[in-house]
Amino acid sequence: MTTLDELPIRDDLRGLTPYGAPQKTVRVALNVNENTHPVPEDVADAITASLAQALRTVNRYPDREFHSLRESLAGYLGRGITPEQVWAANGSNEIIQQILQAFGGPGRSVLGFPPTYSMHSILAAGTGTRWVPGRRDAAYAISPATAVAEIAAHRPDIVFFCAPNNPTGTPLSMETVEAAYDATGGIVMVDEAYAEFAAAGTRTALELLPGRPRLIVTRTMSKAFAFAGARVGYLAADPAIADALRLVRLPYHLSALTQAAAIAAIAHADRMLAMVDEIKVQRDRLLTELPRLGYEPLPSASNFVLFGGIENPQRMFEQLLAEDILVRDVGIPNTLRVTAGTEEETSTFLETLGRIGS
Ligand code: PMP
Repeated sequence: MTTLDELPIRDDLRGLTPYGAPQKTVRVALNVNENTHPVPEDVADAITASLAQALRTVNRYPDREFHSLRESLAGYLGRGITPEQVWAANGSNEIIQQILQAFGGPGRSVLGFPPTYSMHSILAAGTGTRWVPGRRDAAYAISPATAVAEIAAHRPDIVFFCAPNNPTGTPLSMETVEAAYDATGGIVMVDEAYAEFAAAGTRTALELLPGRPRLIVTRTMSKAFAFAGARVGYLAADPAIADALRLVRLPYHLSALTQAAAIAAIAHADRMLAMVDEIKVQRDRLLTELPRLGYEPLPSASNFVLFGGIENPQRMFEQLLAEDILVRDVGIPNTLRVTAGTEEETSTFLETLGRIGS
């Protein structure tokens, strides 16, 4: 059998590990921050009808500029954001990859703030962009002064923020984004994959877009929209950013079926998002109940909770898996990360955790 080492692979990819969240069929899957609520039946019917229609012309390439989808997404975002300011791709992972392809690449660098979403550095590696790990403050916060100091020290071409941050759940102050933007002549990206789970009234980087052509805000339909399997991510930015991404995207990268499904789902945004409040209730339940069981959850503005105080996370992961419950060991010592599921899933997780102890 040939091993990877024997192939003439790029030197800078040798020894790297791929994204590897375990995919297992379990009773309670709370490991990849999905929305565990299924798509409502009537919305599924509307999506099926939209797909059926799109299938009739699937002999033709899809709308390469996905005009209708961009209109739908702009309407969903509101705040005066126009379709020209919106760009979409197969998950926000692909959006981030396109940003790195257009603004990063060999000889360029991206500053991120670990611990953060693991794909940020993996996509940097895949595009030959040097990943520079920046320093965070206490409790995983990033103050404006810290962001500015890290930018001054490393002079990156791109700065990645994640708000709220995965895997810690930490919110990000918009003053930090403003200060970082002023401190760099490069691109500033704010990954807002979990924005819909923040408390009402929480500021978003979308507010900062006017007058900041180098700022990009990425979002996804994978989390709040319960659409992870359909692979739809998007961004809002100056229209010139979409022009840059047109240079690197594959022609027709968003299939006609993806576009049709997403447009139908967004037309029912209120129904798709109906579960967000319920998920926030379950997240808050985790934040209240975990300390009662002797663990230390971090504050979270997202649909997951990172909790500490675990003597042996690997053992606890295995014990939970033995009970058919999948959580995530993100490699931060003495912690595990759990997604807020349905009320029943969250109860099962908490009861099991109480039973097995640390
Ligand atoms: N950003 C963050 C912070 C995430 O946690 C995730 C998914 N885990 C993504 C982006 C990617 O999501 P998708 O590609 O499904 O849009």
